[in-house]
Amino acid sequence: MDKILETDGERLLVAVRNLLEAKGLVTTAEITERRAITDAANPGQGARMVAKAWTDPAYRVAMLSDGAKAAEALGIPMRGMPPLGVLENTAELHNLVVCTLCSCYPRAVLGYPPFWFKSAAYRARAVRDPRGLLAEWGTHLPEAMKLRVVDSTADYRWMVLPMRPAGTEGWSEEKLASIVREGDMIGVTIPAA
Ligand code: FE
Repeated sequence: MDKILETDGERLLVAVRNLLEAKGLVTTAEITERRAITDAANPGQGARMVAKAWTDPAYRVAMLSDGAKAAEALGIPMRGMPPLGVLENTAELHNLVVCTLCSCYPRAVLGYPPFWFKSAAYRARAVRDPRGLLAEWGTHLPEAMKLRVVDSTADYRWMVLPMRPAGTEGWSEEKLASIVREGDMIGVTIPAA
């Protein structure tokens, strides 16, 4: 027996899905596959990219020029996802990512967005008072460091390539990846050894 549809949202979802299938635009198998990929995505994937960029200069260049291609090179499925841009933090420039409109997030490489990323408070304060917001995360940037706030959209997603922390010389890629957190790749926090 079919599940009883409780809400308008559920009925709308089923109607749109049935229409897409009827028109041959998407198959049930494709929807199932996409859901499985999205559910499996997690910040560990982005962390692997960051660790590789820290240890492999050629990969770093490739990642900065095309994030989606660099993700695919590590076996992260990117088919059907919007392009992925990578913003490199340096000693002079810190990047912070926000979706001011809703919750656009590089799900393919970081998984589902954390609850705060979708909150009106984060979306507003990232623009109005980004340094104050970062301070609440315990991220204190030097006065002279430039702060760039980048808007993530439905057409283009962004992740941050943080700076490799001091004291990690000689670490393996796996150990480096283990210290890279979700917030480090959004720019609210900075990885520490
Ligand atoms: Fe959005």
